[in-house]
Amino acid sequence: MLTKLRDIVNNVASSSDVKQALNTLVSETCSAMDTECCSVYIADHDRQVYELMATQGLNAKSRRVALSFNEGLIGLVGRRAEPINLAFASGHVDFKHFPDIGEDVFNAFLGTPIIYRRQVLGVLVVQQRDSRQFNESEESFLVTLAAQLAVVFAHAKAQGLWPSDVKGSLLLEGAAASPGVAIAKAWCDVSQPRLDLVSPASCLDNQKERDRLEGALSAAISDFRRLRKRFDNELNQDTLAIFDLFIHLLNDPVLRKAMNEHIQQGDLAEWAVKQTIDSFAERFQNMSDPYLRDRANDVKELGQRLLYFLENQETKQWNLDEPVILFARELTAAMLAAIPRDCLAGVVAEEGAVNAHAAILARALGIPAVMGVEFNPQIIHQKKVVLDGFKGRVLVEPSAHILKEYKRLRDEELELQQEVDSAFTRRTETADGVRVEIHLNAGLSADTSIAINRGVDGVGLYRTEVPFLMQRSFPSEEDQVKQYQSILDCYPKQSVVMRTLDIGGDKPLPYLKIEEDNPFLGWRGIRFTLDHPDIFLIQVRAMLRASIGRDNLAILLPMISGLSELLEAKTLVNRAFNEVSEIAVSQGKKLNKPRLGIMVEVPSVLYQFDAIAPHIDFLSVGTNDLTQYLLAVDRNNARVADVYDTFHPSVLAVLHQILMSSQRLKLPVSVCGEFAGDPIGAALLVGMGYRQLSMNTRSVAKIKYVLRHIPSDALQKHVLAMQQLSLTGEIRKASEDFLERYSLGGLIRVGK
Ligand code: PEP
Ligand code: MG
Repeated sequence: MLTKLRDIVNNVASSSDVKQALNTLVSETCSAMDTECCSVYIADHDRQVYELMATQGLNAKSRRVALSFNEGLIGLVGRRAEPINLAFASGHVDFKHFPDIGEDVFNAFLGTPIIYRRQVLGVLVVQQRDSRQFNESEESFLVTLAAQLAVVFAHAKAQGLWPSDVKGSLLLEGAAASPGVAIAKAWCDVSQPRLDLVSPASCLDNQKERDRLEGALSAAISDFRRLRKRFDNELNQDTLAIFDLFIHLLNDPVLRKAMNEHIQQGDLAEWAVKQTIDSFAERFQNMSDPYLRDRANDVKELGQRLLYFLENQETKQWNLDEPVILFARELTAAMLAAIPRDCLAGVVAEEGAVNAHAAILARALGIPAVMGVEFNPQIIHQKKVVLDGFKGRVLVEPSAHILKEYKRLRDEELELQQEVDSAFTRRTETADGVRVEIHLNAGLSADTSIAINRGVDGVGLYRTEVPFLMQRSFPSEEDQVKQYQSILDCYPKQSVVMRTLDIGGDKPLPYLKIEEDNPFLGWRGIRFTLDHPDIFLIQVRAMLRASIGRDNLAILLPMISGLSELLEAKTLVNRAFNEVSEIAVSQGKKLNKPRLGIMVEVPSVLYQFDAIAPHIDFLSVGTNDLTQYLLAVDRNNARVADVYDTFHPSVLAVLHQILMSSQRLKLPVSVCGEFAGDPIGAALLVGMGYRQLSMNTRSVAKIKYVLRHIPSDALQKHVLAMQQLSLTGEIRKASEDFLERYSLGGLIRVGK
């Protein structure tokens, strides 16, 4: 049986023509299963129908057979996404009778879905005259066949060899990495050297290889310097920091030493680069923080650039005379920078994730992007393409009708973006004038971009751990003072909330290995720093020293689970305050007491608010961890990603409860998790009564725009309605409809 299965899959895969492949499939399946009828239906997701593409046993020559996704047994197999095995198919309520196709003679029915990455691509069916159920081994044969065919079908689709989902055009799918619609000709550039293809090779002349490597390192450094300069006025500091990171890594003695050691052992420079980059990238890859894990791609990008400069002396010049959609195997920051902005309508990459730095850069530059798309350059190059950065789709040679629809969407987006941008510098209030403060979540560096500073009310969360992770040892007190001063100086009249180190098993420091079975429940946040008062005191002292003569520092403690941790931490903060006060006095200056707050992210702390309130000045709700701990679901585990949902009714109930407690205890509260930067989340939070939200740079304009368009009583009513719902999906859907009623649906299109 196994040989038969393999033969069928091989024969289908080796067919160059889809029609012929499907005919082979049905006839070989009939003979392998010794059955009289086999048919394959293919899903057309845009028309929401299954179309009969090939059959042995049915008479489909005279007419087209298509069933809507809601119709017939085929529709049922697709909806249930599992096999259906019936002895009398026509007796089933879902059976749909097609006259003249000769199905009436068949009684037994076994249909199984062909699923690739959760999407039903089609349905494979066998039928028989006998009225009997197919046995278990027949069922497992068909299921296994369908699973293997799914891979073949998905590959054929990507190669443009598939009857498309969208009539007349080829549809490619990937991850939505940067929103927006682009319409232009495709430009495929797959000429970059590939790190993954570098194989072991040795050299005869070590000195020559060392010189080649040195030359490539210098060329890459000056290239990144040039790029940084090129973007200086266009990008905020957080995004620009990637170029600094690249330059920093290229100068890193450890990295250089590792490469040179490989050459010393007789390796060719390319092979030395590959081995070193792979081991550095692996370090990042093993981190469970998704942001840091994605930095592995940046390290690989660095390797690609070195490979490029080992082979070329010059930076590649792009001579394009019209805007294009760039298709690349791996998108790099250098590529985005090298192509003039007015010639780059959009980007599509085969490799890379939504949070790879090239994707972050594309978002910051407002270039629509789709990542993780398999494509065939020979078919795509120079073809007209629509890129849908909201849904992660690419349509090659779209029909006139589809093109018209997308042009309309693109024009709408442009109009919406202009409106959003115009609301940016105005202070945030709801449509009826209720004031809401919008703060920034900052990380890699202070955001010194003038535009952003004019648009926000301060920094609601400065994550201090990132600089700790980028270094080879704990940063010194002096280094930290400088870092914190630069941030406090960016916002002289606004509050800057600095969180103490939230490091732990999930974000291991390269210089301090922590191995735990359950890192999220382990030694992280305040638990780590209380066990290391030395590290904690240095950090708090650095924050306080940075704030001498200023009045805008607030200190935030992460992962507080109860009163005792807070009291211990506060004792240390007070000790640091007394020490730094003396320094201030000796300089003839004054140290103002910073406000002290706790993150609300461990559920137990909710039940200690009364005891905790007298000791703190504010609360900051971390919805990312709060959701994780409340729902007992790892926030970084793709397998349970669908269970991790901030719209869960219990999460909403807890958020409401926190607000009630904070009002009763007269404690200011803000929300700094991702939920606050989500249009639906922000609407719910303000509807509940939250008046301070803190979010990433790119959410600011969007959230301001949403809030300015809805009156506070409507937000309040919406929350009351949502509190009556018990299903996460219902809450999400009703909230989307709510925003749609205010014509704000465009702001939540991403990822739908
Ligand atoms: C949170 O948990 O919601 C939060 C803001 O902190 P972090 O994402 O850094 O854990
Ligand atoms: Mg957290």
